[in-house]
Amino acid sequence: MISRKTSAELFETAKTLFPGGVNSPVRAFRSVGGTPLFIKKGDGCHIWDEDENQFVDFCCSWGPLILGHNHPAIREKISETLKNGTSFGAPTRLENELGEFIVSRNPYIEKIRFVSSGTEAVMSGIRLARGYTGRNKIVKFDGCYHGHADSLLVKAGSGLATFGTSSSAGVPEAFSRETIVLPLNDIPTVQDCVAQHGKDIACIIIEPIPANNGLLLQDRSFLEFLRKICTENGILLFFDEVISGFRVAFSGAAEWYNIQPDIVTYGKIIGGGLPVGAYGASDKIMNCISPLGNVYQAGTLSGNPVAMAAGLVQLTECSKPNFYQKLSDKTNSFVNVISDHSQVNEYPFHIASIGSIFWFSFGMQTEIRKAEEIDPSSMIQFSKFYNHLLDMGIYFGPSGYEVGFVSAAHDEKTLAECADKICKALDLVFLK
Ligand code: PMP
Repeated sequence: MISRKTSAELFETAKTLFPGGVNSPVRAFRSVGGTPLFIKKGDGCHIWDEDENQFVDFCCSWGPLILGHNHPAIREKISETLKNGTSFGAPTRLENELGEFIVSRNPYIEKIRFVSSGTEAVMSGIRLARGYTGRNKIVKFDGCYHGHADSLLVKAGSGLATFGTSSSAGVPEAFSRETIVLPLNDIPTVQDCVAQHGKDIACIIIEPIPANNGLLLQDRSFLEFLRKICTENGILLFFDEVISGFRVAFSGAAEWYNIQPDIVTYGKIIGGGLPVGAYGASDKIMNCISPLGNVYQAGTLSGNPVAMAAGLVQLTECSKPNFYQKLSDKTNSFVNVISDHSQVNEYPFHIASIGSIFWFSFGMQTEIRKAEEIDPSSMIQFSKFYNHLLDMGIYFGPSGYEVGFVSAAHDEKTLAECADKICKALDLVFLK
């Protein structure tokens, strides 16, 4: 067993300061047991905790670090930018540079607005959808997480799934009444819902690659159907690409599936490891935002120059030829070793993946597409698996509902070694 003595001491102090000792509940290790690791530093695909344990990191700060930790070019650009100050609350050249870099390469949006988190991006995008259409209701899908804005905290994602609650206290019923929740990948229920409420629905929001409650890959035909039914009914199709944006392709799932959404949100990778979110759409829709239009949205630190600089360097790397192909190829080789081992041994286990995102699912051998198909009791096996892997020096997000990420810094040798260890951890879980 690795020593977590220092982490445990720090956690005791943290508990006196922060609810549950953390500043975001998914960090709390509640579903895998034990003390959260306090991380001291990261470099490439590795992190080190306060007890000097080294891990290969597949959490990658929950997705933003597609180039790995402490990337030299990002670090240098941040240092250079810092010399001029940290924030001005006035327009800067760097906002133009990042905005232009994205909009000129992303055919799915014409204008973008930078904010400071994924939650803020989605919350603003929802307001925009409502303002643009003059309608109040929104449709979301069971298992998709869109940040913690009130009307979106209904049947959403890992943190909530882990804690076994489908909604949050403190959200007035009147708000959640405006949110209709449907099962993923299910055409008839969407048809029924639109037949009944179509004229009141501002948008249908989906993670086109749902990756917050396991990896619930959708049929392309389902996403194409959503595009069609939205167009036919004056409903905006809202792709929340906070995870998938710049992850599976530069222009995210919209590019992967070649489906044009009406509003898109980004976060995570866009900020190069600093807090940035963004929402984008056509000129016509975006021009409804203040100061041009009457949908209000603002932010003291929006478009922060240091964060813009980090994002610019990261996205420059991502836009290089074959960047995504290489990342997918590496991920496929890694995943295939584990998948083959599991199949040969007939373990009740499946590993789903797309691009450089993957998810270990216990309890069954096939891919699943709906949140309700996840067996909560399989999390006991995940917890054992997780702790074996920590002991072997491999770090994942501490919940069986979380996906893992491969970054450009994960080299083939390290991935092969990790695949071997993961196979061994599966043998230990299934007691071979
Ligand atoms: N939308 C999606 C799809 C996300 O994955 C997340 C974060 N996991 C959010 C929104 C919220 O982003 P943030 O945590 O930056 O507020």
